[in-house]
Amino acid sequence: MPLYEFVCQDCRREQELLVRGEELPECEACGGVRLTRLLSVPAAHTAGSGSPASQGPPPGPCGGSCSCFPGG
Ligand SMILES: [Zn+2]
Repeated sequence: MPLYEFVCQDCRREQELLVRGEELPECEACGGVRLTRLLSVPAAHTAGSGSPASQGPPPGPCGGSCSCFPGG
């Protein structure tokens, strides 16, 4: 079953709740329904920051792994 982290907009409490279908869970503490899902992004796959040299070649016209990429 999918467990997601939520933060309640009413009491600011963070909690892990089960999500069934498209139903929004209720806050365990105050019973509120204004919950915001926290996105847990893996730290190893963040794009936009850091040096591109350590991330491999930048994307070329063919996707970066192609040999036609200039400078590769
Ligand atoms: Zn709450």
